[in-house]
Amino acid sequence: MFPDDILERNPGGPNEYPIWQVARATLAAPTFFKAMRLEEDDEKAEYIDGSLSAKNPSEEAYRSVKQLSDNNQKAVKILVSIGSGKNLEADPNPSSGFLLFAMYMKLAAKWASQSEATHQTVLDATRRVADYFRFEVEHGIGKIRLDAWQGKKGIKTLQLIRIKTEVYLQIPEVQKQITLTARHLVDVRRARSTQLDRWERFCQGVDYVCCMEFCDYKDEKFKGRQHLRRHLEQVHQSDPAVVEFMTDQGKRFPPDTGD
Ligand SMILES: [Zn+2]
Repeated sequence: MFPDDILERNPGGPNEYPIWQVARATLAAPTFFKAMRLEEDDEKAEYIDGSLSAKNPSEEAYRSVKQLSDNNQKAVKILVSIGSGKNLEADPNPSSGFLLFAMYMKLAAKWASQSEATHQTVLDATRRVADYFRFEVEHGIGKIRLDAWQGKKGIKTLQLIRIKTEVYLQIPEVQKQITLTARHLVDVRRARSTQLDRWERFCQGVDYVCCMEFCDYKDEKFKGRQHLRRHLEQVHQSDPAVVEFMTDQGKRFPPDTGD
């Protein structure tokens, strides 16, 4: 292991876990949701508590993306953070399981305050360098227990979440912020599509291989167009037209996992 690997927040290329497994792993919480084991190639990890290091992962995401760009202050242009509901109201009369409920309310209050602290940290970190939007239902969601699932297939719980969310979304200021966010995101997406070299690796997991005959590096994966281009120029002394052609030929998408 090299020092860089220790210091990197999110080392290596993108993982190929299905998104539902990642979401499930972040939800793990002792006594509520079981730990989740993720395995890929020779990597194995068990995720036991998503709230342990980052109740609100926006700061982690912000710093991770910044690091991918050599800690460039302007690496993140827009950050949209969606909370799981402010914990403003506590229900003092739980119908059953009081001890577990009391423990949960204590934890929930702690998570909410830590999440709010992260929100303030991200607000400070992004000030003047990025547009930061935070959306969070303010009333009614805090009463819902982490493992609530009432009614057939949880329909009552889901309805409650939907109603409280719709009330929040009707607030004029929230609507204004959503429109503004959408406009900014479209602008960023348009700008990004002109710099495909940089983004296809992180967005689509694209790698490049050298397709030149008898190449000593034919089993090597190049981490981006520019790496393969450099290889073609330096090792094969290819002229620009061949470099472009062979770079297109060498593009490899990650295998479809079928999930
Ligand atoms: Zn080669």
